[in-house]
Amino acid sequence: MRIALFGLGIIGSIWARHIAADGHQLTTWNRSAKPDAPGFTADIGEAADGAELALIVVADGPAVREVVERILPRLAPTAVVAVHATIAVAEVLEIAALVRAAGRRYLDMPFTGSKPAAEARHNVFYVGDDDGAFAVAQPVHSRLSQACLPFGGVGRAMAMKLAMNLCIAGTFQAMAEGLAAAERAGLDADAFFQAMDRNVARSGLVDLKRPKLLARDRSPQFSVKHMHKDLRLVLALAASHGLALPLTAGVEAAYAKAEARGFGDLDFSALVDVVGSD
Ligand code: NAP
Repeated sequence: MRIALFGLGIIGSIWARHIAADGHQLTTWNRSAKPDAPGFTADIGEAADGAELALIVVADGPAVREVVERILPRLAPTAVVAVHATIAVAEVLEIAALVRAAGRRYLDMPFTGSKPAAEARHNVFYVGDDDGAFAVAQPVHSRLSQACLPFGGVGRAMAMKLAMNLCIAGTFQAMAEGLAAAERAGLDADAFFQAMDRNVARSGLVDLKRPKLLARDRSPQFSVKHMHKDLRLVLALAASHGLALPLTAGVEAAYAKAEARGFGDLDFSALVDVVGSD
């Protein structure tokens, strides 16, 4: 199968290496040149030419739409377009309509797991599929992931992804505030995590971010700007259904502060530096 991958950021660059290592025929494209990526071409049309499966891992909804519009005429007539960026559910439905109007099939396929999970082929894909398109992607994506979870039709996987990121951001924020409270009371981070080890609040997220927090390592696994995007998207989704999310609104305000301070490209664990800083 001819595969094309668009967007060689933190995640796309890792998946490209895995897909090439799995022996697939792969072309890749990125807005800014990444000549070291397997199958890289700076010409987006050339990357798309004849591809039967397109993976899109760019930043946000406008970027996905732009890429889709540019590649659609060049993809194979029966191509499946799998969109992995986290975007609004409304954008999913609009872009899926564009793809269908061009005779191709759309897969709503957001994922969880950041850089370490991608390296370890341990992402989890959420699958929204209207017409059996996942059967085309399954052999490729099952190799990149620990699970591909079906949630029904196109749009439903993205709604679940946004709900899950709300949980991650809220969980991290609670931990950051707990850590700040302990530190203000004269306890250090080592003591905090020692207590957390035997506390029901311990989680996979705590375990993932603990080494970064102890090392004061803010290099991005999942960036502040993308988590902030996702919080805005889930708040808008909930509001469209008449649902207020007061805790999430507070977390979003902290992310707005972090971005205003120039933390956008740092790992979202940098939110610890915002707690109590004004
Ligand atoms: P990233 O490292 O910030 O990379 C973003 C990619 O999008 C880059 O390749 C960038 O190209 C490209 N891009 C941005 N604007 C563009 C435009 N207008 N046209 C074309 N390309 C554009 O992002 P990431 O962390 O890999 O995440 C990618 C997507 O997956 C995001 O939607 C994110 O929310 C989602 N996601 C990420 C994670 C994670 O842990 N990292 C987990 C789950 C979901 P340049 O290199 O030229 O800037």
